[in-house]
Amino acid sequence: MTRRGLRYELPLKRPLRLGDQQVTTRCGWLVQRGDAVGDACPLPAFSIDSVADVDGAILRGQTTTASLSWALHALDLTEHAEVATAGLVTEADDVEAGDHACVKMKVGRRPLAEELRAVTSLRSTGVRIRLDGNRALTPEATARLADAAGDALEYVEEPVAPEHLAACIQRAPIALDETLLDAPVAEVPRGAAAFVIKPTLLGAEHTLALTALAARRGTPVVISSCYESAVGRAGLVRFAAATAPDTVHGLGTGPAFASDFEGWVQTDGARLTTCAGALPEEDAWVAF
Ligand SMILES: [Mg+2]
Repeated sequence: MTRRGLRYELPLKRPLRLGDQQVTTRCGWLVQRGDAVGDACPLPAFSIDSVADVDGAILRGQTTTASLSWALHALDLTEHAEVATAGLVTEADDVEAGDHACVKMKVGRRPLAEELRAVTSLRSTGVRIRLDGNRALTPEATARLADAAGDALEYVEEPVAPEHLAACIQRAPIALDETLLDAPVAEVPRGAAAFVIKPTLLGAEHTLALTALAARRGTPVVISSCYESAVGRAGLVRFAAATAPDTVHGLGTGPAFASDFEGWVQTDGARLTTCAGALPEEDAWVAF
């Protein structure tokens, strides 16, 4: 069956800070084979490939890239699927759980006292809490934030610099995210409370190797989106449902888009369901 691709650019509601750059749109390629559609959408500053690399792979038949390998893998995922997703709190004054049973809060960005208050306030709402330090916390701050979340804490995601990780894993439930991108599969530390897996960044082969490792170790897997289009998120919902149907995943990036491909994912906020969406019909599709 022939494949075709369409390069797209979708506007975000607000500029998104990624490393030291700000992006206002998301650029990627839709890939289609029959009724199946995938999304190759590298995340600037985090992906090892760029959208220019995907251009090269599709238009000039150069070596496939991480995000494109995932998009092509997603073509094999066609089942209707539904999963729960965590809420996301990025600012201390934005503490509200809504309908979510589980909320992830970014920490290590503001004064510790402010973040401790925000965690305490979130805990009082009765939700389960995931904290994400993006390696910006000290071991001491990690322990204090974990204490503030108390028995509501599910895990702290990558709280500290790599040299402190092993000690932290002994003291608190720690989920791995950045470490999974950096470390060879054979060297992923033991004892993690969860693996946060980002297929767009990891690519298909690395993603499948990590889910297999998690299954062997009995480590929970949380599938996480990286601001893919609705087509990409639908593929992640299918993969998440097939891999860990009862887990609350991290797929709540849809609201960041000012406009998106329509009809691919339906949400009530806390759950995401795949749907039959529409594709742009234009001449710019290319066979590859
Ligand atoms: Mg993270």
